[in-house]
Formats: sequence, structure tokens, C-alpha cells
Amino acid sequence: MSPFDVPHLLLRDASVPRSLIRAEGLYLPPGDVVVLDIEIADGRIATLTPPGTLAGEGVDLDRGMVWPCFVDLHTHLDKGQIWPRAANPDGSRAGALGAVGADREANWSAADVRARMDFALRCAYAHGTRAIRTHIDSIGQQPWISWPVFREVREAWRGRIDLQAVALFHPEAARDHAWLAALADLVADCGGVMGGVPYMEADPWDFLDRVFGHAERHGLDLDFHVDETDDTNAACLRLIAETALRRNFMGRIVAGHCCSLALQSPDNIDRTLDLVAQAGITVVSLPMCNMYLQDRTAGRTPRWRGVTLLHEMRARGIRVAVASDNTRDPFYAYGDLDAVEVYREATRILQLDHPIGDWPHVVTVAPSTVAGFGDGVIAEGMAADLVLFRARTFNEFLARPPQDRIVLRAGRPISRVLPDYRELDPLMERA
Ligand SMILES: [Zn+2]
Repeated sequence: MSPFDVPHLLLRDASVPRSLIRAEGLYLPPGDVVVLDIEIADGRIATLTPPGTLAGEGVDLDRGMVWPCFVDLHTHLDKGQIWPRAANPDGSRAGALGAVGADREANWSAADVRARMDFALRCAYAHGTRAIRTHIDSIGQQPWISWPVFREVREAWRGRIDLQAVALFHPEAARDHAWLAALADLVADCGGVMGGVPYMEADPWDFLDRVFGHAERHGLDLDFHVDETDDTNAACLRLIAETALRRNFMGRIVAGHCCSLALQSPDNIDRTLDLVAQAGITVVSLPMCNMYLQDRTAGRTPRWRGVTLLHEMRARGIRVAVASDNTRDPFYAYGDLDAVEVYREATRILQLDHPIGDWPHVVTVAPSTVAGFGDGVIAEGMAADLVLFRARTFNEFLARPPQDRIVLRAGRPISRVLPDYRELDPLMERA
């Protein structure tokens, strides 16, 4: 039996990221991590104390890091794992749209979507993720296949991974007013979030007004794919903020990607960020997918990282997160829904270091708060959903891919066995 598998557990000498501790009355010495003892009883964090305060045996973590379980704010569970049967021919965004469209038409039955979602969730769970928001391709009749599957999967995974879904569709689909109204009804019925991909060439003002209208009608939150391009004329982020302010929208709004903002003029950036801050919009960056798709031309080395302006946003008080986005599909060939990989890559790509500060919020507090999955911190009374590492410092954590983690859910260690890709072979052979 694992020394962790006991009803009453004392974790000694745990290095907890300072920005992820909420403990009133506890002195936290300066530094990116704080060494604490964590007492766990009845599946919850009972006590956070300075090391050596509590009597009893406990498990000596030897200053290994302890994080709260992760929250992944932007994924595509319905699209993931199709790479072997739907590769991106040239790595471009256009190539991705074509390959996914053809695969969806040919293969996305309820059984196919369900099997791939379940595979993805087992990966995320083993890596230490406790909550996920996924976008669901909602085009033509697909929503009436995928959303019922999502509901079943959400129920089956309740207590292990909390799930939310967002309707993802293009303005062309939304031109059919009756279809959009029916989609909004379905999303509301499933407790989902409205979304979509506004873009400049497709009357984004009208599109946004109608999507906001349906969200208001049902009291839904919003989550858009925004300006995922190097075209500096792409300014849908600003239009979303203006629409939210004009309509006095009461729900929560997340904007994903926002790539083109990074290439716009300083004046445009300032004006847009003022409006985004005023409208209370959360921005989620998808750094691995952006690095993969943006600035890609065959035979030419990319010069741009593709990511949006997280430092400038945070400096204005805009809530920012990072997330997985696609995994093993034509939009991103790689990835395993591992929030540690996302955080490590984000740190490298976006320079979320020196100092580390509260950047650990991007995969914990920020996504958890905006999606309503709780505070995302380590505090007394919280469920003991924790990830334990051998790495003692952020430098050790970021230097070597940390594969040695132990995941505790409600204080008990879970199996960390990842599903085998071979399991998906029968689905891939159908192509
Ligand atoms: Zn996405």
C-alpha cells in the first residue's frame, strides 16, 4: 500500500507555490515557494502549518512541490486524437479546417466522439487535472450528436473531472436564425456556454449581437475563439468588448487566442485593452497551438511566437489563463492534456518567469475562477485534490519534465496509468 493511502495523512515539508496558498494568519516567508506541513482528513485539507508544528508520523516530502489540481479552460475533447486518420497536410490553419471538416463528416458518430473524449479525459485525470472546459464543434446536425454525448460523459466523469462545454460554430452556420436559436436552446438545456468564431469578413457586429442575444435569453456565459491570425486588421476582441459594454452583458466572457493583437499598433493595443479590462473579459492564451499554427510557411523559419499580450493584460488587471487547446488533431499534432506541459511551455514561450510571481494562477486560480470551478488555491477546508512532485523549486520543476508526480484526489492517490494509443486503432482504421 502507498504511504499516501491512509484516511488521515500528514504531508511534511511540502513546497507550495506561494501564489497558490490562501491561509489567513499564517506567516508566509518571501520566495516563490513556501515550505508547509499539510494535514489531510476526510478528503479535505484540515490544516496548513509551518513545518514541524504538528505531532504524528506523516510522509516526508523532502521539500517536494505540492500544487492544487489543475483546471484546463480551453480544450477540444470532441476533436482530439484523430491525427492518425486526419493529419494536417501542411500544418496550416486552412489545412486544419479542411482536414477536421472532412473527418467530422465521415466519422463523428456518437460512439466515435464518446470514445475519444473518454481517452482524453483519462489522460487529463492521470496528469492531475480536476476540471475542463471543452469546445464542441457545433455545425449542421453535429450538435445533436455531440452535445448528448457530452452530457453522458460529464455524468460518467462526475467527481473525477468537472466538465463544461462551449458551442463552437462559424458565422456561416449562424446565418440561419432558426438553427442558431435551436442550438442556443440545446446549449442551455445542456448547461453549456455559447461561443463561436467571429471574424471581420463575416459581419462580426451582427454575429456578436445575435450570439450575445441568445446568451442573454438563456442566462449563459460566453467563450469565443478570437483573432487567431496574424492579420492586424482582425479586431474582434475589441468588438466583443464593445458589444458587452453596449449591451451591459451580465454573464462572464472568455476570449481565446487574440493572436493578432500582438502585432497591432501601440495605440490600437491600448484602446483594445482598456475596453477588455472595462468589460471584465478573461483572456485565455493557447501557446502550444499558437506556436504550431501561426507564422507557418513551408520552407520558411517562423519569426513570431504567435501568442497574445498576457503581460500587458495582467498589468491592467485583466484575468489571464493558458490552456491546452487541441491535442493530436489537425490544429495541433501533439499534446496530452497535461497542464504541467502547458504551464512549462507557456513559461518558455510567454516568458512567465523572473519573477514567477503569480503566473502559476494561469493553470489554476484564473481558469477555475472564471469557469466557476472554485478558487483553485490550496487552503484549509478545500478538497485535498493535490499534485505532488519531487522537484523542490520552480527551477527544478521547469528544467526537467516532471513525470514522477503523485496525484491525490480527496486525499487518496489515484492510478496514473495513461491510456495506450493502440486502444484508438479501431477508430483510426475506419478512415
Ligand atoms: Zn480552440
